[in-house]
Amino acid sequence: MMMKKSIICAFLILVGLQPSLAQQRNEIKVPDLDGYKTLKCDFHMHTVFSDGLVWPTVRVDEAYREGLDAIALTEHIEYQPHKKDINADHNRSYEICKKKASDMGILLVKGSEITRPMAPGHSNAIFLQDSNPLDTKDYKDAYKAAKEQKAFIFWNHPGWDRQQPDSTKWWPEHTELYNNGCINGIEVANGDVYSPEALKWCIEKKLTMLGTSDIHEPIQTDYDFAKGEHRTMTFVFAKERSLDGIREALDNRRTLVWYADMVIGQEELMKPFFEKCIDIKEINRDEKGVTLSIMNNSDLIFKLHKTEHNPSLVYFRDYTLKPHTKHTIKILFNDGIKGGDMNFEITNLITYPEKGLNYTIKL
Ligand SMILES: [Zn+2]
Ligand SMILES: [Zn+2]
Repeated sequence: MMMKKSIICAFLILVGLQPSLAQQRNEIKVPDLDGYKTLKCDFHMHTVFSDGLVWPTVRVDEAYREGLDAIALTEHIEYQPHKKDINADHNRSYEICKKKASDMGILLVKGSEITRPMAPGHSNAIFLQDSNPLDTKDYKDAYKAAKEQKAFIFWNHPGWDRQQPDSTKWWPEHTELYNNGCINGIEVANGDVYSPEALKWCIEKKLTMLGTSDIHEPIQTDYDFAKGEHRTMTFVFAKERSLDGIREALDNRRTLVWYADMVIGQEELMKPFFEKCIDIKEINRDEKGVTLSIMNNSDLIFKLHKTEHNPSLVYFRDYTLKPHTKHTIKILFNDGIKGGDMNFEITNLITYPEKGLNYTIKL
């Protein structure tokens, strides 16, 4: 009898010590770029330490299961509706997570959300040392405190209709922050909202593009993983998988945003990224035409649409390259031509508002 009890106890202790080993990590399959690792990051989320509905360590488990490399918990500095039950300083949710994140190999970036009326609205300051000095009366002092800590600051959900009911405007307050180096990036996508204005501003003003979940509930409340959905996130092209690596990449604007079935970002990054996702092989050629095989090795979908081309080269008008699928495509030569440029726009790889990546396959 005694023997049995002690075996059960030992078993319970072992189970109790390693509760997270049973979680399955679903790696996101997207390629690295030459010289850079593609880190999957979400720098905007909440827990019960502001207006979220989960304990901080749950965010680490979620990130692990979804194959993320890095997260930031960005509790609202100015809005803490659970304060009666959870009364702690602004650093606490980060501190609670720190060990678990490190044990599970998730990079944890320290951040906070400066939560003000428009203008300037909401911003996340990440790579902070101490969140408490951001708790100030005047918003300018909060940005100043973040800047003094060399934080990376990005404007959140600029098109949020509760703060910009008619149109998404850039206010004089943003010009002042921008001139003081207090806007380093903008959320081009936040949760299920994409902002073409933010994309335009990031290109014009040389700011970093970010995609975030801004998750408040448990993640599965907002995303149906069984249907293949994924949280809105940022692909960060870092020289190394580390906090320093992420910071260097953000400072140098090496990001793409993954939002629903779209990838959004600068053409200079999008083009090599797309090329790494696919593998094109010529499998047959004669006087009548060419047969290509196009393998999509990524988790992403690509929607190709034919653009202006030599009409003697006959190919599809619209074509979808599905994830992890090999596609065989026949291109016909008319009027005695021997080859040519197959031009198309990839309509879900967005490089400017309403504009997809232009791509040419030379035949
Ligand atoms: Zn919130
Ligand atoms: Zn916000």
